[in-house]
Amino acid sequence: MSPLEEIILAAIKRDGPMDIGRFMDLALAHPQYGYYRKQDPLGRGGDFTTAPEISQMFGEMLGVWAVDTWRKLGAPSECILLECGPGRGTLMADCLRAAKGAPEFLKAAAIHLLETSPVLKEKQAEALKGYDVSWHEDLADLPAGRPVIVIANEFLDALPILQYERAGGTWFERGVEFKKKKFVIARGPLGPRSNPENTAAHKNSGLPRRLQRLAMTNLSEEENAIYEISPAREGWMAQLYERLKQSGGAGLFVDYGHGKTAPGDTLQAVYRHKYCGVLEHIGEADLTAHVDFEPLMNLAHEKGLAVHGLTEQSAFLRALGIDLRAQRLLHKANPRQAQDIHAALQRLTDPGQMGALFKVMGVSYGANAALAGF
Ligand code: SAH
Repeated sequence: MSPLEEIILAAIKRDGPMDIGRFMDLALAHPQYGYYRKQDPLGRGGDFTTAPEISQMFGEMLGVWAVDTWRKLGAPSECILLECGPGRGTLMADCLRAAKGAPEFLKAAAIHLLETSPVLKEKQAEALKGYDVSWHEDLADLPAGRPVIVIANEFLDALPILQYERAGGTWFERGVEFKKKKFVIARGPLGPRSNPENTAAHKNSGLPRRLQRLAMTNLSEEENAIYEISPAREGWMAQLYERLKQSGGAGLFVDYGHGKTAPGDTLQAVYRHKYCGVLEHIGEADLTAHVDFEPLMNLAHEKGLAVHGLTEQSAFLRALGIDLRAQRLLHKANPRQAQDIHAALQRLTDPGQMGALFKVMGVSYGANAALAGF
């Protein structure tokens, strides 16, 4: 058993079955053994590949978006360009290169990165050599006062979720338990909650508040229906929305997900480019859950922000001109490079690949027009 598994086992022995959110939190973010703390998960030698690692065109389109958004915010002379979960720094490097055509923007924008992984911070520093970059682990540490333009690709899917399952006419929370010498998924009751966000979700035991609201409309009560909520994600977004309201700004979130809450178990683990069980390779496999954008859009509306989208990644990239960009790159490409450009364009925009599964949500406060791409 690995040191991280020992830690999880000890907690289960002490407190009872562990909620999925706490489990994800330990597997991904344990300060010493968490998946994101130890290694570079990206690319061929890692576990998975993301859009900016597939092609420079992805980050370039986000650069075009950022410049346009900055103009719509009134071209402030100082602003913050924040990327959350920047991976290897590839997206930001491509984004800044694409923004070179707008030197006033580059002059105004201070580059800030939200990142917890020491390994990835090093890679980001390397990719962004020559730029002045500030790192933060917590959104609250972002300097106040200036408008913020936020970009995030595959960041929200790493934030912990909770799961609920219908069985025998009642709802149970799902958790992790240890039985017959292995970790298994259990149905509640679960142990006490060590994460305050998860405690808040449970003020009314049984179904959490968010699902109770849904229950009045169209909650499926089929046997074994599973619903997911993410107090951690909603809490994080609420904090960002407050910040955007204080200083003005906008955000762009790209993730595998959906625009309407629906039943389904979307927690998944990927190890070396292959799916594995979520309780296998704990701390060695990437764990994610699809993003339910519905509560995030509702929350933005409630707070008085403008919401743009949801739209599909292909429509977003096309609206920003990815086809034209590919044409330009093809002019200068040798036959091998041309093949790569065609393949990358296809992978990013084909509905059967990333084009339709990945969704894009924009939010803004103080923009004078609809944001580009929607
Ligand atoms: N956006 C990049 C990487 C996606 S992987 C890309 O598209 O290639 C997820 C990223 O989020 C990693 O950089 C990971 O270290 C970071 N991350 C995960 N949980 C985080 C958290 N709670 N706070 C800050 N960063 C986090």
